[in-house]
Amino acid sequence: MKLLEGKNAIITGASRGIGKGIAEVFAKHGANVAFTYSSSAEAANQLEKELQELGVKAKGYKSDAADFMQAEELIKNVQQDFGSIDILVNNAGITKDNLLMRMSEEDFDKVIEVNLKSVFNMTKAVQRTMLKQRHGSIINMSSVVGVKGNAGQANYAASKAGMIGFSKSMALELGSRNIRTNVIAPGFIETEMTGKLDEKVVEGWREAIPLKRGGTPEDIANTCVFLASDLSAYITGQVINVDGGMLT
Ligand code: NAP
Repeated sequence: MKLLEGKNAIITGASRGIGKGIAEVFAKHGANVAFTYSSSAEAANQLEKELQELGVKAKGYKSDAADFMQAEELIKNVQQDFGSIDILVNNAGITKDNLLMRMSEEDFDKVIEVNLKSVFNMTKAVQRTMLKQRHGSIINMSSVVGVKGNAGQANYAASKAGMIGFSKSMALELGSRNIRTNVIAPGFIETEMTGKLDEKVVEGWREAIPLKRGGTPEDIANTCVFLASDLSAYITGQVINVDGGMLT
C-alpha cells in the first residue's frame, strides 16, 4: 500500500545517509520529493534520477539549511515547482565533536546553526503554506544524544535537545490548523556520519544495543513514513526513539 500517494515532501540533507533513505522510501510510497544538499551535487543528480525512475516528481536543490534567506528562497522555488508542500523533514545535520575543554566557539556555533537554526529557518519559511492549506506534517531529526547527552558532543547534544523544545512549541502553536510536528531520535544508524568512528568502538555499541545491531537509514525512513502519513493523524508533539532499544 502506498501511504504518501500524491503528497509533496521536502527533505533537507538527502544527498546521502538517512536523508537519502527517507527520499527513497517516500518515493516508493508515492510522494513527490524535493530535497536539499550542501555540496554533493553529483550524488544529488543521481538521486534525482533514481527517484524519478520510481515514477514520482523529484528535484534536488543546493541550499544551506543554516542560512535564513536561502531557506526562504528554497521554499519559494519548491512551491513554484511542486505547487504545494505537505511534509517537511528537517534532517540536515553535522557533528564537530570535542570535549568542552577543546571545543572552539566556531565549532559550537556552526553545529547550532546547521542543526538547530535550520529548523527555525525551514519551519518559518514553510508555515505560511501549511497554515493556508490547513494541514502539514513536520518531522525533525534529533538524536538519542539530544535526549540523554553525550561526552564530547556538547554542541551536538544541545542542538538536538533544542530541536525537541522547538518542535513541542510548534505542536502547540500550529496544532489548531492541523499541522503536526514530531521528532525522531535515532540511535546509532550506520551512515557516513558514523563511518568516521573507530570500528572497535562501533562493535561495542552494537553489542550494547538490545536488538544487537546498528540501525539502517530505512529504519528511520519507515518511521518518517508513519509520521508523514495519515496513519499518525492524531500524533503531534512527540519524540519517537528509533534506537533498537538503546535508551531502554
Ligand atoms: P550524513 O551521512 O553526514 O549526511 C548529512 C546530510 O546533510 C548530507 O546530505 C549533507 O549534504 C547534508 N547537509 C550537511 N550540512 C548541510 C547544510 N548546511 N545544509 C543542507 N544540507 C546539509 O548524516 P546522517 O548520518 O545521514 O544524519 C542525518 C541526520 O540524522 C542528522 O541530522 C544527524 O544528526 C541525525 N542522526 C544521525 C545518527 C546516525 O547515527 N547516523 C544518529 C542520530 C541522529 P552534503 O552531502 O552536500 O554534504
